[in-house]
Amino acid sequence: MSIRQGFVLAFAATMSCAVAFAAGGAGGDIEKVDPNEHFHPQGKPPSVHTLKILNKARESMPFEDTRDFDEARKGFIAPLNSGVVMADAGHVAWDVDRYDFLKAEEGWPSVHPSTQRQGHLNQITGLYKVTDGIYQVRGLDLANITFVRGKEGWIVFDPLTSRETARAGLELINQEIEELPVTAVIYSHSHGDHFGGVRGVVDPERLEAGNVEIIAPRAFMAHAISENVYAGNAMNRRLFYQYGVLLPASPFGHAGQGLMQNISAGSMGLLQPTLVVDPGLKEIAVDGIKMVFQNTPNTEAPSEMNTYIPEMKALWMAENVSNVIHNIYTLRGAQVRDALGWSKYIARAMYLFGDEAEVMFASHSWPRWGTERIKEVLEGQRDAYANLNNQTLHYANQGVTINQIHNVYKVPKSLEDAWYARGYHGSPEHNSRGVWQRFLGFWDANPTTLIPLSPEDSAPLYVEMMGGSENIIRRGQELHEEGKYFQAQEILDKLVWAEPENLEARHLLADVWEQIGYQQENPGLRNSFLSGAFELRSGIPEGASPDSSGPDMIAAMSTELFLDFIGIRMDTRKAEALGDYDINLITPDNGEKFAIALSNATFTNVEGFLHDDPDLSITINRSDLENIMMGVKSFAASIEDGTAQAEGNVDILAQIAKTLVTFEIGFEVLPGTAGPAGEVDLNPYEFESDDIWISGE
Ligand SMILES: [Zn+2]
Repeated sequence: MSIRQGFVLAFAATMSCAVAFAAGGAGGDIEKVDPNEHFHPQGKPPSVHTLKILNKARESMPFEDTRDFDEARKGFIAPLNSGVVMADAGHVAWDVDRYDFLKAEEGWPSVHPSTQRQGHLNQITGLYKVTDGIYQVRGLDLANITFVRGKEGWIVFDPLTSRETARAGLELINQEIEELPVTAVIYSHSHGDHFGGVRGVVDPERLEAGNVEIIAPRAFMAHAISENVYAGNAMNRRLFYQYGVLLPASPFGHAGQGLMQNISAGSMGLLQPTLVVDPGLKEIAVDGIKMVFQNTPNTEAPSEMNTYIPEMKALWMAENVSNVIHNIYTLRGAQVRDALGWSKYIARAMYLFGDEAEVMFASHSWPRWGTERIKEVLEGQRDAYANLNNQTLHYANQGVTINQIHNVYKVPKSLEDAWYARGYHGSPEHNSRGVWQRFLGFWDANPTTLIPLSPEDSAPLYVEMMGGSENIIRRGQELHEEGKYFQAQEILDKLVWAEPENLEARHLLADVWEQIGYQQENPGLRNSFLSGAFELRSGIPEGASPDSSGPDMIAAMSTELFLDFIGIRMDTRKAEALGDYDINLITPDNGEKFAIALSNATFTNVEGFLHDDPDLSITINRSDLENIMMGVKSFAASIEDGTAQAEGNVDILAQIAKTLVTFEIGFEVLPGTAGPAGEVDLNPYEFESDDIWISGE
């Protein structure tokens, strides 16, 4: 995999909500499976113990409250032209029809009834009227695409993940309501499922002529790309768990993602905003419609904003308030979010706009109508995030640790009974651990866990002390049969780490995880257990094919981030053989300069400085550097054809190149599951090159 791919993958991880992979595999035709049969030959149905837990949930939850269904169906105008959208590259970019099984009146016994209810609601798709002048297309991607009637044309809120799905949304509104040009696009926040499809709705000629405004919250561009590049490969590997990338849509597999069913796998792009909203609260007329923008930094995204449209009495809550309690900690990995700050921004929006608003709509899910209902949902979500924050710390201050908080923290009963406050994206379990981590970090203050053995080193001792593998298998089977799955995983996990080649142990742990997965309400938890079971049974499959991004994404990546990532790719153990070098990099067209240093086997850079007496100095326009960043041209070739000028010891580049490691997406998470490195489909902007820094060695 080239750095380019590493970057594409890293980019994929910038989304709050997964990305470039759809469950069942993007980049090829999406596999359809019979919902009545397990898709895996070793798969098991739910056990009596699992059925008991799910039946109890069915009896204790407020299924008589059906207001969500009324709201999800209100204002229906037309169905989607098709539940399947083809990518311009020829594969299936989107197929919402494969989730029709979630509409079954009788619950699927292998899906938590609350998860299925949410999946059913998310399967109510089509074009809907929100209020006079506002329309939403729901079910074309992970997010909604929303159209507001401006004086001259359509104002688009959040153009989905892919050009193809966004285009399908625009076609539907033009066909059913009124054929109009797009006059403005508003990005609610810096996650890719809310901007990636922008090229599907914006006419480049109109943009060029200044007839389309693209409006974004403060610091949008900086965060749209950078949020997660550094740990991007690890995050993308973990997406396989959170989003169940390898699981087919099935009652035994992927059963929706809470926010919506899944994410599209078409072509992503990014157009720069023409207007960035600053300061915090600002009134702007957009295509003749007065809008009040409220920046809400460091909530669901580092850059995000709500919008109030006074003349329509309509409140857009971005992704700050939708149909879920969101992730404070995201299972794919990300910096833990600020639950208390998030709660306060919801409260501010309520005090600013809540008395006047007649409808509240958002970037995922269905709207809420009427002041009373709007306040109910805003207050409930305000309290849910604040309670999570405060009670986690309440217990932490009494000695409850990160390894206990998920078994101690309980959502207040009144919020548990509110469908809009269920943890369909962020479960109380992983969110409470996240809050604990935000304030106190990983350590529970038990010295034993401070410098622990690695699992592969500690597990053999456990197995020995437990009397060997046969004892563990026997006890594991008993616990499995008794439905004591959490106890069973505790001992079987040790055996799998001690004896990765022990297939009996692996398969038993897979059976245990499968039952735990079926029991989860939260799709991220469900997918993680089911994905773990899949990998234990089948290994890591080949052919996972991300298909996202093009030159837009590279253009949005700062040179500093690119250089930082080279430092991450550098293997210190190899670099220790090199000398110390000072390098200058100058990009005249954007006026940037970098002092780069290789010393102590560490590659660093700082913007705005130059070495007085460098070993090597490179001058290249940033626009030409982008070809190198994309991997379509090497530094050597750039120097040769004169697009780059080098002074000094050019051989340094080749020396550095030899120390750079290429990150592979298919690394092993569970012992013994790694197969050959995954084949990764390349998009037209990508090609195989281990060496983007300089090639032609
Ligand atoms: Zn989103």
